[in-house]
Amino acid sequence: MRYLTYRRSGINRLGSLQQGYIVDVEQVAGVGDLLSLIKGGVDLWDTVATKLKSANLDELKAKGAAVLYHEGLVAAPYTNPPKNVICLGRNYYKHYLEGAVARGESGEKPPEAPIYFTKPPTSITGAFDPIPLDLELTQKLDWEVEFGVIIGVGGKKISHENALKHVFGYTIINDLSARDLQYKHQQWFKGKGLDGSCPFGPFVVTPDELPESLHLPISLNVNGITKQDANTGQLMFDIPTIIADLSTTMTLEPGDIISTGTPDGVGNFRNPPEYLAHRDVMETIIEGIGTMRHRIASPERVALVAAFDRARDELLKTLSLLQPQHYDLATVNLGWSVKELVAHLAGGITFASTAIQRHLDGTLVAGLQAMNERNASQVEERAAKSLQELVDELVQSHYQVTDLYLSLTDEQTQITSTMSSGAKVNIHERLQRYTNHYMEHANEIFQAINA
Ligand code: MG
Repeated sequence: MRYLTYRRSGINRLGSLQQGYIVDVEQVAGVGDLLSLIKGGVDLWDTVATKLKSANLDELKAKGAAVLYHEGLVAAPYTNPPKNVICLGRNYYKHYLEGAVARGESGEKPPEAPIYFTKPPTSITGAFDPIPLDLELTQKLDWEVEFGVIIGVGGKKISHENALKHVFGYTIINDLSARDLQYKHQQWFKGKGLDGSCPFGPFVVTPDELPESLHLPISLNVNGITKQDANTGQLMFDIPTIIADLSTTMTLEPGDIISTGTPDGVGNFRNPPEYLAHRDVMETIIEGIGTMRHRIASPERVALVAAFDRARDELLKTLSLLQPQHYDLATVNLGWSVKELVAHLAGGITFASTAIQRHLDGTLVAGLQAMNERNASQVEERAAKSLQELVDELVQSHYQVTDLYLSLTDEQTQITSTMSSGAKVNIHERLQRYTNHYMEHANEIFQAINA
């Protein structure tokens, strides 16, 4: 099984990826979040997997229990593990060696025992969420692709032989590290504990989906250029060894996350050293599991995107309260029906992504005028779609808008243009306006269905 946590109607839900669709696990098998599934134990895992495998995808789609997979829907698998994320340092020989050379050591004495440190749960973020980079706090944000292990069955003094029976699944982790803070504070916790520095996902894949050897190609690229390229078979301390060693002194619990260390090719040990910058796009890939993709952005932009996302989620939460009898209710301000209003929002967000593009091409004004003329008829046309189609369109376009916004230079976000109202706004303000727009209409719809 390939489990993921996805956003639907503003709520995080447990899904399973099947033939390009996210199947809602609660609707099929009654389990609503990944940590509950993991804690439920082996019997529950089997029951849920059996139900998912025997479900009919077409029937699920028809009753809204399966939605088309889209990166914009993906959240972190969970953000509340029982402990900090347990990490290993220097667990690939070549990475140990590149560090030893940088420290002026001979590289003849690789670690005799695993090196452990942890990352706090507040560092966890999703597989496609923007990564904040505050240049006032760190100038040296670095990447580390890692193979992640999710403990399913807890225990103490677990034998090497039985260790893999304690695993629920595997995932991708990026152990983002602020090297200047890491070295300034000596102990690694501070430099590796920044908010947003532990993306994981997009999936938690159960062992039956992967080769028994667990030897998987693992890589990372920045702006399409490969920086790390290795195989998880090169771990010096392999997964059974790590589980057995950790559990000699520490009780492992269901949901514990172990990040097994990074291969060579981190930015800090390159010559000359390289670090992440705003607008960089970083992909972390493990064959058989998937790809995470992150844009690096200023905290201000990450905050605006988060506000934009929250406003969308608020709207979707309101829409989830709708019943067919509400579709024709006129909302407070526009006199449009609820469905027309949703069509208007979906159209608006679709338009926003093309508008930003045109903004950059310098063809925005003409495009806007044409849009205004067509607006009313488009709403009518769009309102003929089903509510689900409109919502899908809205979510996908929303993701395109945020992706475009995060890809722009600071200068580009400040370019101003004439809006339909004649007001001059820049792209940054435009996103704020869309945020407010969602909230206003979510309120209107809420009032309409409660009147
Ligand atoms: Mg690491």
